[in-house]
Formats: sequence, C-alpha cells, structure tokens
Amino acid sequence: QCSAHCPVGAIFEKDETGKLLAAIRDPEKHVAVQIAPAVRVALGEAFGMEPGEISTGKIYAALRKLGIDAVFDTNFSADLTIMEEGSELVQRLTKGTGAIPQITSCCPAWTDFMEKYYPDMIPNFSTAKSPMMMQGAITKTYYAEKKKIDPANIYSAAIMPCTAKKYEITRCEKMYSSGYQDVDVVLTTRELARLIKAMGIDFASLKDEKADSPIGAYSGAGTIFGVTGGVMEAALRTAHKLITGKELEKVEVNEVRGVEGVRKGEVDIDGKKVKVAIAHGMANVSQILDEVRDAREKGEEPPYHFIEVMACRGGCISGGGQPYGTTDEVRKKRIAGLYKDDVNSAVRCSHENPEISQIYKEFLGEPLGHKSHELLHTGYTPRPLYRK
Ligand code: SF4
Repeated sequence: QCSAHCPVGAIFEKDETGKLLAAIRDPEKHVAVQIAPAVRVALGEAFGMEPGEISTGKIYAALRKLGIDAVFDTNFSADLTIMEEGSELVQRLTKGTGAIPQITSCCPAWTDFMEKYYPDMIPNFSTAKSPMMMQGAITKTYYAEKKKIDPANIYSAAIMPCTAKKYEITRCEKMYSSGYQDVDVVLTTRELARLIKAMGIDFASLKDEKADSPIGAYSGAGTIFGVTGGVMEAALRTAHKLITGKELEKVEVNEVRGVEGVRKGEVDIDGKKVKVAIAHGMANVSQILDEVRDAREKGEEPPYHFIEVMACRGGCISGGGQPYGTTDEVRKKRIAGLYKDDVNSAVRCSHENPEISQIYKEFLGEPLGHKSHELLHTGYTPRPLYRK
C-alpha cells in the first residue's frame, strides 16, 4: 500500500472494497461486475502466478464466490467501443464528417491532460466512451430490460488496472446516461486481490468459470485493448471490414505493435494509406500532438489519420492499480499474455462477436445511431491551464 511508502503514514491508497461488500450484503441490490482486459494478466501475481499468466476464468469464479450476481467482461464493451470508434474513423476517413486525425479517448488520464493542455484538439477526440463506461451504461439499460431488473437496484462495479478510472465514473453528466450513475464503484486489481485474500478464497485452486451472457463474450480484438497499440489494432481490424466489406486475411497488424514510446506507421486499407501514430507514457505524447498542431497552423495536410494515446508506459497492463513492482520484464510478460489471449480466441475481430451483433439487433440499432449516441458517446470540455 502507498501508506507503506509514506514516512509518516499520512498518505493512504483509496480503498473502496467496503463499498462493494456493502452492495453485496444489501438484499435489494443486484451486483454486476466487469473486469478490464489488463486485470486478467496481472491479478494472479498476488497469488504466486507468473506475470502474463491468464487467470480470466479464475477471476470470474472468485467474483461469484464473493457473492456477485452477474459477472461481465469489459472486453465485451471493448468490442462495442470498436464498433462505435471504428465506425467514427471510417466516417471521418471516407465522408469527411470530423477532424483528422482521430485520437483515441479511452484513457481518462489522457483525456484530462488533453482538456487542460491541448483543448484545441477536442474535435480530434473520438467521442466513443471508454469500454468501462459503455459497459456500465448497457448494464443499467439493455441488461436491466432483458432481465427485468429495476436499474435503480443494480450496483455496477468495475475492476480496473487504473486509479484514474475512479475519477472517470463521475467525469461529466454523460457518465449518468442510463438515468443513474452508470458505474457505481471502481476497484483496482490490487483492491480485488486484497478482497479475495481477506475473504479466504484460495484463488490458485479455483476452477475456471465463464462470464455471464449476453454482455460477457469477447473477441481477441477486445482483449488487446490492454496493450499499447491494441486499441488501434482492434479498430483497424474492423475498419478494414467496414471500408472494404472483406475480412483481413491476417488479423495481426504488426505495424502498430512494439514497446517504443512513440511509433509511427502506414497501414494499407484497400489502396488507401492510413497513417497512424501511437504514443504511450505522457512524456511521449506532446511530440506527436505538436506535429499535428504545427501542420494545422501551417495549413498542411495532417501528418496522421489515427493516433492512439495511453498515459501508462506499455498501456493499461502497467496501470497505477496493478500489482506493485512493474518492471519492463513484467510489462513484456503481461503484453505477451494478452496477445496470447487474442490468438487463443475463437473470434478475433469485434464485429464478429455474436453478442455484439445481438445487442445491435435487439437494442442499439446501428453503430453511431441515436441510442448509441445517447448511451455510448461523450464530450469534452476545454479546461486550459497552460497553452503554448
Ligand atoms: Fe488507466 Fe493507464 Fe490505462 Fe490510461 S493507460 S486507462 S491511466 S491504466
């Protein structure tokens, strides 16, 4: 805990496990929990497993042992994010409906930074909410309707690798799109590990279980959201299908993989060269954004079409809520774990996830449609502190 590092014990890590326990003990509450992509390759470390070892099935089982009513997976809504954000990218590229480059917005630490230091780039931000916020919104609407549960009685919790996600759940009024607070509490990977230990659950010996349906199934594209370059790769897999009508022969987009702090490349989609850039670790972000801003001020073509930014080095696999002691060696192992989870997935692209097709058919209609805009998209506010 942080308190262990504070010489006078005055600084404590915010621990909200008590809120989740109170909801579980409340007979009126139907408790639904989602787990983020990066949690599955790190939580096991608290129980003697190797970094990168995939413990998804054990985490689902542990959550049920804690008394959770519905166990969902943020990877499902990562697929949903791709349907919305990929469609947005395709529209910007083919119909000129928004600013180029499109910049990813699923990292709340990054969106907060951009609102303060690059507010002129708000039009470039994807309006798609983060997977966590989409999952919360559909849990209290689509899932509630299907199961005939009053959304007022649903308690929606999220297990995240990230401390900034605790801030995101009340970031703006769009975080209440269901008519209630879409996500009620965020626990970090470390908090869940502590809770599992405190409840005496023998995590290592748990048998794998499956997530609940219909908002629990995920594709390989959804799971690589936890890795730097993963959101872009997932979006490109679906953008290719949306633009060409054809599936990629090889779904791995190696041009966007790697661990360098800034990566640039070109991806060919049906003869169109899509210029991409990836930055992770906040120190690396300004380099890319300043290139975009300079080109705009000179009236030149934007240097990129699509940019992915993650505040943490390596992406969410080394987020501030993950087990302590994240070295580059640990990062590489967790990254390898998520790529393995992708390879082992029967479905590798978000648009092929059958539960994604189901939610559009039964509830949302189409990507970027009216209901999607109400529940799955957000906006940003300039809050400049400093401007060059
Ligand atoms: Fe959170 Fe870091 Fe992931 Fe951003 S990159 S969402 S700050 S864990």
